[in-house]
Amino acid sequence: MSVDTRIKLSAPWIDERDEELVLEVLRSGALSLGPTGPRFEALLAERVDAPYCAAVSSGTAGLHLCMRLAGVGPGDEVITSPYSFVASANCAIYEGAVPVFADIDPRTYNLDPDAVAAAITPRTKAILAVDIFGYPAEYDALVPICEDNGIALIEDACEALGAAYKGRRLGSLPHPAVFAFYPNKQVTTGEGGAVTTHAEEEHELIVSLRNQGRLETSSWLQHGFLGYNYRLDDLSAALGIGQLEKFDRILDARRAVAARYEELLASVDVETPIADDEDHVRSWFVYVVKLPESVDRNAMMTALGDDGIATAPYLPSIHLQSYMRARYGFREGMLPVSEDCSARTMALPFHARLDRGDQERVVDALRAALERSS
Ligand SMILES: *Cc1c(COP(=O)(O)O)cnc(C)c1O
Repeated sequence: MSVDTRIKLSAPWIDERDEELVLEVLRSGALSLGPTGPRFEALLAERVDAPYCAAVSSGTAGLHLCMRLAGVGPGDEVITSPYSFVASANCAIYEGAVPVFADIDPRTYNLDPDAVAAAITPRTKAILAVDIFGYPAEYDALVPICEDNGIALIEDACEALGAAYKGRRLGSLPHPAVFAFYPNKQVTTGEGGAVTTHAEEEHELIVSLRNQGRLETSSWLQHGFLGYNYRLDDLSAALGIGQLEKFDRILDARRAVAARYEELLASVDVETPIADDEDHVRSWFVYVVKLPESVDRNAMMTALGDDGIATAPYLPSIHLQSYMRARYGFREGMLPVSEDCSARTMALPFHARLDRGDQERVVDALRAALERSS
């Protein structure tokens, strides 16, 4: 099959306006620490209803800074989801803490608050909740657990820009939240991320840590903390501005693609993502289906690949990654819900401009592969 008829897993939506904005910064010569970063931050803060927003070089960098913000250090435990991208657990390890995985709800794929409560120990320093696949986690259940135990709550909203929980946009809840802008996310800056906070001191610490721990108020080259170079450059920020200008169109287009999949898959034997309700409005990041237990997921992926359709085994459970097993002795059976989901979930091609014909091809190929396997 020729390259151009392959259906890709994801694709950013870049248009002439994005090109124009990036070119403008390129020609200005102000490529980093210029005026474009703060403009992007202000637009993003407005979009998510957060008083403070600091752009950073990646979502992972943002999560790492939030661990510093929460005071996470050696010997501490951070409770998080095994059914996520590795960055949400790695950030705790960077600070010498141990990731403690609590199992997930098989419907939402997000942390099960009862499992989180059961995982609390005197060493627990923070809970890092993930809005997986753009679906908001259960904050009204997680917040009291944090309050009762005097621990921090950090939100990994890297897949969820534009989502809302109980009528509030993610980023507007009082705890720090991290967004990410890798090219498969709803909004891209190439590489990039952002941390939203709700207290001036929190914002100032993030801003200092991303810039080598520099003390912004004192003279040049005074460093008050061990910091990093986690800055976002102005070219990336310019692309981010272009993306935010069309953010509503991006979200609407992704929602429409998801709705078409839901329709097309009605007669196919797979579990589709749960629908929104009053409390949860998803921002569509990926389209993940759960296959019947009896089906060999890898065979299914091979079959679709042969038809020119990209899929991905989304998501492997983090605790079973080889470096995690080697480091902490994690093993199969520890987190049965997450492991079952990991064995059966598969991401289909999904992006804002996926056309209907391609979606039909994906669903036809999936249906045929499922029929062959039974
Ligand atoms: C994308 C993502 C991140 C951050 O990724 P970067 O590539 O570092 O920007 C973190 N957590 C989750 C759940 C993600 O999907």
